[in-house]
Amino acid sequence: MRRPANAAWYRLKDRARARGRGKCEFCQLRKVYALHHRSYAREGAEKMQDVMAVCKTCHEVIHRLHGGLTYNVKPGSLASQGDTGLDYFAPSKLWLRYLASRT
Ligand SMILES: [Zn+2]
Ligand SMILES: [Zn+2]
Repeated sequence: MRRPANAAWYRLKDRARARGRGKCEFCQLRKVYALHHRSYAREGAEKMQDVMAVCKTCHEVIHRLHGGLTYNVKPGSLASQGDTGLDYFAPSKLWLRYLASRT
C-alpha cells in the first residue's frame, strides 16, 4: 500500500469513512482501519470512487487476492484496475461468515 501521508489523503479518508458511516465499506461490519486504493489512475488527486474505507481484515484479504501481502499495487495489476472480483458494496455470505469466525 502506498500511503501518501498528507492532509488531502486524510480528508479523503474522513470522507470515505463518513460515506460508510464509520464502517468498513466492504463488509459493513467492522470499523475503518485503512483507506484502500481501488485505482491508482489519479494518484495524488484521487476522487471518492478511487478509494474505499476498509477494515484491517478486509484490507489484508483484498491485497492477498491481488498478489501477495506486500501491499504493493503495480500499475496494470488487478488492484490498480479496481478490485476485479470484489463487489464493492456486496460482500458474499461466505465472506461475512469468514469474518464472523475470526471475531
Ligand atoms: Zn471489512
Ligand atoms: Zn489497500
